[in-house]
Amino acid sequence: MKCFSPKTTALQWIGLSLLSLLILPACSVNPVTGKNELSWVTEDWERKTGEQYYPVQQQIGGGKYQIDPDLTLYVRSVGKKLALYSTRSYLPYDFVVLNDSTPNAWALPGGKIAVHRGLLVELDDEAELAAVLAHEIVHADARHTAQSQEVGSLLSVGQLAATVLLSNAGIDSQAAQQGIAYGGLYGQTHYSRSRELEADFYGMQYMSKAGYNPRAAVNLQETFVALSQGRRSDLFSSLFASHPPSQARVAANQQTAYALPNRGDRGKARYQKEIAALMRRKPAYDYADEAKKKIAKEDYTQAILLADKAIKIEPKEGLFYEIKGIAQSKLNRSSNALKSFDTAVALTPGYFAPILRRGVLRFDLKSYRAARQDFEASLKLAPTQIAYVKLGEIAEEKNNCGAAMQYYQQAAKAGGKNQQQLKQKLLALQTTCQP
Ligand SMILES: [Zn+2]
Repeated sequence: MKCFSPKTTALQWIGLSLLSLLILPACSVNPVTGKNELSWVTEDWERKTGEQYYPVQQQIGGGKYQIDPDLTLYVRSVGKKLALYSTRSYLPYDFVVLNDSTPNAWALPGGKIAVHRGLLVELDDEAELAAVLAHEIVHADARHTAQSQEVGSLLSVGQLAATVLLSNAGIDSQAAQQGIAYGGLYGQTHYSRSRELEADFYGMQYMSKAGYNPRAAVNLQETFVALSQGRRSDLFSSLFASHPPSQARVAANQQTAYALPNRGDRGKARYQKEIAALMRRKPAYDYADEAKKKIAKEDYTQAILLADKAIKIEPKEGLFYEIKGIAQSKLNRSSNALKSFDTAVALTPGYFAPILRRGVLRFDLKSYRAARQDFEASLKLAPTQIAYVKLGEIAEEKNNCGAAMQYYQQAAKAGGKNQQQLKQKLLALQTTCQP
């Protein structure tokens, strides 16, 4: 059985050699393509990794789209229908809609798949949604996600076993309120050209078997190529970085479509009905996205006005209050900001961001006990560097230097540009702490 191709790059060899220190890669047959390939993961690993990272990746991706649970049920039903025809249909597939305006979709090993609401508004019919989902199903089914270089490099340095820590733009409260920057394991997965073509090809087979017209995958790719050249291309940068559109993919999909029966459902009326509520709220999300841009430009008054416009359209969306709270706290309207964050927390239960932001505000107001509760609650949902740093600072306030050191050590695991600052904090504590 031949596993190494002459194309194996020097970098891959180094990666593989490092990997072999941890896990012995084995030659195996790809479940979807039937090709021999080198694999360093087992199916058990795929399942466990998917289950472990799915909740936290949802948090990083804006959290579940809680205001419209029916939308997730609908997307899940389309996904499950397609997954029945995947090669490993027994994988624990799941599908979720995330509250993020960025058009994107991703898959974790073991079949955990997410679609941002920002992508749903760009699609025309259910068959196009099926094209997106089937493509992501193949990434999981054919072990593309499990075999990606990003996962490989993490495995090679032994980080995967450790908790993912989300690095923050800055550890001072000011930077924290400007926006919490997240980096996740799968947000940056980049698929190679051949894997993209593979995901399109097999995805179209799954679509056809599930009763969808595979031509929708051609139309979708044409739309993406046009979008990648248009003035809105910035908006799609993350989707296109992980799944680059190209004329070659359009051509390949056309060929695949010709070989498949030219029939099947497009489900336009059904799709439009299912996303009608989302489309009604779209102007509100546009205002909210504008408000975020105003915050970045430090125009907080305008940001509040825009957040209020969004709230007027949809008073039940927690995200709008979270944005309003950020702007209010920048203008030192602390009690108003607290109220906004309270509302955001109440409207999006189980979502870490407004809890964390309220914690930072409470910390600045020296309400340490309440702040600590928020940081601890946020950490249960998503581990962030800022929460560990703030818990360390609270522990220092209470002269509990042992606990402070532990928190800073956790924070230091996230790396990033705060590493030096954290090391200094730890060194200072080591000299002052009683043994
Ligand atoms: Zn892809």
